Amino acid sequence: MEEILKAISGYLSFRNDYDSFLLYANEIRGENSGYNFNDNRLNPDIFMETSESRNMQYNWTTSKSIDELESNIRNCMKCKLGATRKKFVFGSGNPNADIVVVGEAPGADEDEQGLPFVGRAGQLLTKILASIELERDQVYICNILKCRPPGNRNPEIDEIESCEPYLKKQIELINPKLILALGKFAAQTLLQTKQPLGKLRETLHDYQGVKTIVTFHPAALLRNPNWKILTWADVKFLRKEYDKILQNG
Ligand code: SF4
Repeated sequence: MEEILKAISGYLSFRNDYDSFLLYANEIRGENSGYNFNDNRLNPDIFMETSESRNMQYNWTTSKSIDELESNIRNCMKCKLGATRKKFVFGSGNPNADIVVVGEAPGADEDEQGLPFVGRAGQLLTKILASIELERDQVYICNILKCRPPGNRNPEIDEIESCEPYLKKQIELINPKLILALGKFAAQTLLQTKQPLGKLRETLHDYQGVKTIVTFHPAALLRNPNWKILTWADVKFLRKEYDKILQNG
C-alpha cells in the first residue's frame, strides 16, 4: 500500500496537485466515502498512465479481432473495478459463434480464473446449454462488466457505462445471429430499458440488429429453482429461433 501511495504522490506532485492526492489517499484508506470517480483529477486512470495503457485508450475501437480487442483492453482501469479485480474476465468460447450469451459480471471464481461462468452458476449454464444441444465452445460467453464488483454487489451505472462499449465491440466482431441475455442487468443494459425481466421474457428483441432473447441468470436459478421451468421454456424458444436460422442458411 505504501508503494502505491508513493507512486500516486509522485505522479500528483508532478502535476502540483497535492489536494487531489490527499483526497485519493483518504479514499484508499477508506476515510472518504464521498469519492467521486467521475472527477478527472481523481480518476484511477492514473494507475494506467503508461505508454501501453495510453495507447489502449485510443486503439481498442479499431481492433480487428476478438483477440486483438482483448489484448487492447485487458489492462483497463476506466472504472473503479479495475483497481479491485484479481483478473480481467473478457469472455470465452467460439469467436465466430452464432450465439452470444451475455451475463452480468464476473463472480469470485471468475475473478480468480479470468474466465466467465466457471463457478456453480457457470456449471448450471453449461447444463442449460446442453439441454438444447449446445456445447459451451459452440457459443461465446461474456458479461456486461469485465471486472468483478466487490462482494458480488450489483453493477453501478457508471461501471456499466464505462464497460458496455467493450461489449458492443465484442458483439460487433463476433457478429452473432442470436444473443441470449441472462438476468435483469444484462437484459436491461442491452435493450436500454428499465422494464422488469418478467416483461422482457418470451419476446424476440433486437440488439444492434441481432435477435435477442432474455431469460433468468443461472445464479438466480440456484436461489430460486422454481424458475428453472421458465428458463427451460426460454431456451427452447432460443433453440427454435436458432433452428430457423440454420434452416434458412
Ligand atoms: S469493469 Fe470494464 S470499464 Fe471497468 S475497469 Fe473493468 S474493463 Fe474497465
